[in-house]
Amino acid sequence: VDRRESLYIVSNYAAKFFANKMWNSEAGKTIGLSYFKERGFREDIIKKFELGFSPDDWNALLDAAVADGFKQEFLEETGLVIKNDLGRIYDRFRGRVMFPIHNFTGRIIGFGGRTLKTDKAVPKYVNSPESDIYHKSSVLYGLFQAKKAIRDFDNCYLVEGYADVLSVQQAGVENVVASSGTSLTVEQIRLIGRFTKSVTILYDGDAAGIKASLRGLDMILEEGLDVKIVLFPDGHDPDSYIQQLGADTFKTHVEKNKKDFIFFKTEILLKDAGKDPIKRAGVIREVVESIAKIPDAIKASVFLRECSNLLQMEERILISELNKMKLGKA
Ligand code: ATP
Ligand code: MN
Ligand code: MN
Ligand code: MN
Repeated sequence: VDRRESLYIVSNYAAKFFANKMWNSEAGKTIGLSYFKERGFREDIIKKFELGFSPDDWNALLDAAVADGFKQEFLEETGLVIKNDLGRIYDRFRGRVMFPIHNFTGRIIGFGGRTLKTDKAVPKYVNSPESDIYHKSSVLYGLFQAKKAIRDFDNCYLVEGYADVLSVQQAGVENVVASSGTSLTVEQIRLIGRFTKSVTILYDGDAAGIKASLRGLDMILEEGLDVKIVLFPDGHDPDSYIQQLGADTFKTHVEKNKKDFIFFKTEILLKDAGKDPIKRAGVIREVVESIAKIPDAIKASVFLRECSNLLQMEERILISELNKMKLGKA
């Protein structure tokens, strides 16, 4: 077997190890499994995503894997074990609930581990480092489990976190993936684009985060995908919303509140600008900039017309701005 294959095999071994610890060890059952259950996750979802638990020991995985004949070298290369400057070797994931990360063909390539502590000094999630089989920027969490539904519904819901994917799936909406902490990359968008040209973003409901992500989302337009966005009440993410209000309320919320990204962006920028004419001019420029990124000229002109209403600006002026931008003069 070649080296990359060895990394896949050891990652798969680790996932089985963590799952076995969760379902069959005392600590796993009382700490790991009960954590997931208390958060409202059903057993079928826990199994579908092959969730697990890493024992709170320094060498639990290392010792088991070495005893089963795995070379330490491959455990280090996947980041499952860490060798520090003093040469000490220890498991990266200890006392965490484990989310295996699959590539879209279903092979395990890395892990996210969530702490069970509420201590703010402890990082909430620890993730596998980059390796020859795990490139964060081109992975979408949940894509393997979602890809059939994404094709069938010709749409992909995009959420921020692992737990959001689980809850949205549990609500019966199977076409959902997460960017998992990193801001969205072109590779991730192109990966979605292999299955559908339509993305609906369900981001966490904090105003600051949403404003910060606006620019990044233009990238999706540039790739020729249609983008819609749904906001959740402040402080909620899709997971907390579903767990608190139920699947039906969630689905109704999504249908009622989904808005085309361009209109969404126009509205929040306008609200921010208020009546200040200079700021309003800036908003117009920014919106036209986004529309200029849409490769389909017909779609772009439809958006331009709609936005001319929202912006209270004559369409022909917007068209001329757009043309200038396309020629690189603005
Ligand atoms: P939970 O519901 O379990 O509290 P979350 O998914 O809502 O977690 P967020 O803070 O919204 O957590 O972060 C979204 C995603 O970003 C996480 O699912 C995880 O993939 C990633 N993330 C969050 N915190 C960290 C961290 N400290 N280090 C690395 N990745 C992180
Ligand atoms: Mn967040
Ligand atoms: Mn959450
Ligand atoms: Mn969240």
